[in-house]
Amino acid sequence: MHTFEFNRPKDSAAAVAGAAKAKTAQQGADVRFIAGGTTLVDLMKLNVETPAKVIDVNRLPLDKIEATPDGGLKIGATVRNSDLALHPRVQKDYAVLSQAILSGASAQLRNMATTAGNLLQRTRCVYFRDTAMPCNKREPGTGCPAITGFNRTLAILGTSESCIATNPSDMCVAMVALEATIHVQGPKGTRTVPIGDFHLLPGATPQRETVLEPGDLITHVTLPPPVAGSKQIYLKLRDRASYEFALASAAVVLTLSGGNVTRARVAMGGVGTKPWRSPEAEAALVGQPANAASFRKAAEAALRGAKPQSENGYKVELAKRCVAHALQTAATA
Ligand SMILES: Cc1cc2nc3c(=O)[nH]c(=O)nc-3n(C[C@H](O)[C@H](O)[C@H](O)COP(=O)(O)OP(=O)(O)OC[C@H]3O[C@@H](n4cnc5c(N)ncnc54)[C@H](O)[C@@H]3O)c2cc1C
Ligand code: SF4
Repeated sequence: MHTFEFNRPKDSAAAVAGAAKAKTAQQGADVRFIAGGTTLVDLMKLNVETPAKVIDVNRLPLDKIEATPDGGLKIGATVRNSDLALHPRVQKDYAVLSQAILSGASAQLRNMATTAGNLLQRTRCVYFRDTAMPCNKREPGTGCPAITGFNRTLAILGTSESCIATNPSDMCVAMVALEATIHVQGPKGTRTVPIGDFHLLPGATPQRETVLEPGDLITHVTLPPPVAGSKQIYLKLRDRASYEFALASAAVVLTLSGGNVTRARVAMGGVGTKPWRSPEAEAALVGQPANAASFRKAAEAALRGAKPQSENGYKVELAKRCVAHALQTAATA
């Protein structure tokens, strides 16, 4: 049986100092933070994650949702997903985020899962979760059986020869469309990372999933002030209506004037190796009439770089329809 030391630091500086002793960055590291535990404990039970030391961040004062002076929102790292999704400001000004979170997991899981934990949840690739199988993400250099194996649910954007795993988060897709900023406290001080730069493409190092360094603690996430008059939708397509990860999803934030699109933010889930923003779709929309033809063109642009595997070619058309339908629904909301 795997044994580990459990630690409950008195403040965030102590948490950072404890985690800074890790040999590698957070995911897969030998010293780990634990928040809701809905990712980490699962993976420890499967022996996929075997930390020597677990640092509990639940008692740190990081559980508040507060307005920022510029009219945006500050979300603490340990704010539970359910509290975030049901917060009145989120429901009013950042509806896409509320919808995305409520489309994920189950009520019980959302009551435990935290903002930071959700940012760092790991892939559901079956080979990653099975220690009897090789996997470059779990054990670098062992190979990627998914490329020739079971890949129906895996990524078609951002893949590499080393890994084609999908980032499974719904929350992150909405945060990408909202252009969130992640705030980190590390051994060298504090810094901010735009969410688009936070997750890494797998390249030749799929074991490294984010820009976090050993000891880095996510303290909070900020959202910019809401865009006046924007229409927001999160649409998630999956094998069953609830308690299931996305095969394709779309988060859109759309502003219209006189029947034309004046501003668009488009992000996709279930299809990318990271939460996937599509500047191509956004560029294709701005200045165009808000109609089915423009939305289909934007969806085509979003999937132009898709590289399907043996079993997931269906995702290309599924994701296009998902983006087009989300745009149509937002425009007519
Ligand atoms: C059955 C099931 C179904 C699910 N379905 C969905 C779904 O449909 N959609 C979806 O989006 N998600 C889904 N999830 C995933 C769920 O959203 C995540 O497990 C959850 O968000 C993780 O949050 P947590 O607080 O429990 O993380 P933990 O398990 O506590 O931690 C996860 C990771 O984050 C690190 N960490 C935690 N806090 C910090 C911090 N402050 N700073 C730095 N690192 C930190 C940990 O070290 C660990 O690496 C599902 C999970 C399960 C078990
Ligand atoms: S896709 Fe990535 S996570 Fe899945 S087996 Fe290949 S290397 Fe591992």
